[in-house]
Amino acid sequence: MPPPQIQVAGLDAPLVEPPAAQDRRSEPAPELVRPHVDWFSYADFAEETRTHLAELQPGGCVGVLAVDIDHFEALTSMHDGAIGTEILANTAARIRDAVRPYDLIARVDGNGFALAWRQATMDTAPADIGSRIARQFDDPVPSSAGDLAITVTIGVAAATFDEARFAEPQTLLAQARAAVVAARARGRSRITEFDPIMREHAVQTYTTERQLRVALRDETLTVDYQPIVNLRTGNVVAVEALARWQDELFGQVSPALFIPIAEDSGLINDLGRLVLTASIAQGARWSGDRDNGLLLTVNLSNNQLLDPSLIPMIKRLLAEHDLHPNQLCLEITESVVMANVAASMTILCQLKDLGVVLAIDDFGTGYSSLSYLRRLPVDILKIDRSFIQSLHNRDDRVIAKVIIDLAHTLGMTTIAEGVEDPTQVEVLKELNCDMAQGFLLHRPTPAGTVDLTPVDLRSIPAIEHGLGSLSGSHGWSFLP
Ligand code: C2E
Ligand code: MG
Ligand code: MG
Repeated sequence: MPPPQIQVAGLDAPLVEPPAAQDRRSEPAPELVRPHVDWFSYADFAEETRTHLAELQPGGCVGVLAVDIDHFEALTSMHDGAIGTEILANTAARIRDAVRPYDLIARVDGNGFALAWRQATMDTAPADIGSRIARQFDDPVPSSAGDLAITVTIGVAAATFDEARFAEPQTLLAQARAAVVAARARGRSRITEFDPIMREHAVQTYTTERQLRVALRDETLTVDYQPIVNLRTGNVVAVEALARWQDELFGQVSPALFIPIAEDSGLINDLGRLVLTASIAQGARWSGDRDNGLLLTVNLSNNQLLDPSLIPMIKRLLAEHDLHPNQLCLEITESVVMANVAASMTILCQLKDLGVVLAIDDFGTGYSSLSYLRRLPVDILKIDRSFIQSLHNRDDRVIAKVIIDLAHTLGMTTIAEGVEDPTQVEVLKELNCDMAQGFLLHRPTPAGTVDLTPVDLRSIPAIEHGLGSLSGSHGWSFLP
């Protein structure tokens, strides 16, 4: 009998596709797998959970834990060979170390395992088992590609004695998976217990993903461009490409919502290709029209950065549209760079070898290690909007000053993000910030309506009190 499809109320397709059979195609090198651990199929998991539910006594509890390997697809696409199987085998081994010998570990979908847990009393909450499993990943996982920093996101669902009569294995697993989806929305590498509101969220995520898939297939996603202004001259020196999605069902959807969904569902590479293709073609048109050229900046997310086809694609697009690499800037958020410094460093160096400009986006939000920052081949620091918003506060202004001076000491150019107020422009000029981007100067608009004429910065009223002693000096030169 085929395993049942796992259904979440409101979804017209399964949230989890159970594998048809146990996936054991290629065996990893034995020395990299410690110890060799068997995992079971979805059908075994369902049978075990059903037995646990039927045999549950008053005061006891049945828990289902979904253990998802973070960035599994990106890790497997970065490395060839049996790396996926090695990661799975080592993950199963670490889960095994955290649980009792008779607890069943099953592989229930592409990047994860599920655990059926039964206990006679409620003295250990299933979430505590999750913490125990997560701690097993404190140390890197060995693989044929070297040590990998693997993390897991864990969702927990549980049924008490009273609930067990109504509970089904597939419902508990769907709930645990919904908790994983909710945990991911708040950042990976965490443990979350199911809450009924998550079912709503899972439905929304699923529906958005389905609509986004259609938009990508029909190429209805568009790109807006927001000019970036030189704070000394008022010239527009760069434009940032920003993905836009006008959906017939949802209306205008914010990238803050659909980019993470594209990341999680594997759609980000298609989305990134679309944005890079459209914006490089547009950037080449603008560059050809202007003596000083125009820097085009494009955002890259984590999985795009790790995609092996990224560099050949950028090379091909630059050649096809005859855009000089130094007219393209790739923005990577600080949190992505710092989440995996070693991998980011390698890829950023490869991108730098192409001759493109590199920027760290949303700087100040991602806990940069200063020693890494010094070694990263980065040209531009984009100061996060939160620092610009609080420039009126003297203490926060000092932080902005420290960031700007640090960037200049490291030979980087600074761009202030989210400038909305004329006084912010004045303060940023005083602090020696190089460039600014924000609704005050220009809003993002479609290519046809982007205004590239210089902004008259003198028409912005000056603030009452200068900053005097806060001013510094530096040399920067690579943009007009
Ligand atoms: P980001 O790269 O930091 O882009 C700047 C965001 O700030 C944009 O939001 C822009 O519209 C907004 N913004 C600009 N000036 C102001 C201002 O004065 N005030 C305020 N409140 N906001 C301002 P948007 O377009 O909603 O994009 C949000 C984020 O989504 C981007 O942040 C970026 O991280 C991501 N994103 C957008 N397009 C893409 C894309 O093509 N690929 C990837 N990977 N990420 C993208
Ligand atoms: Mg950006
Ligand atoms: Mg930003």
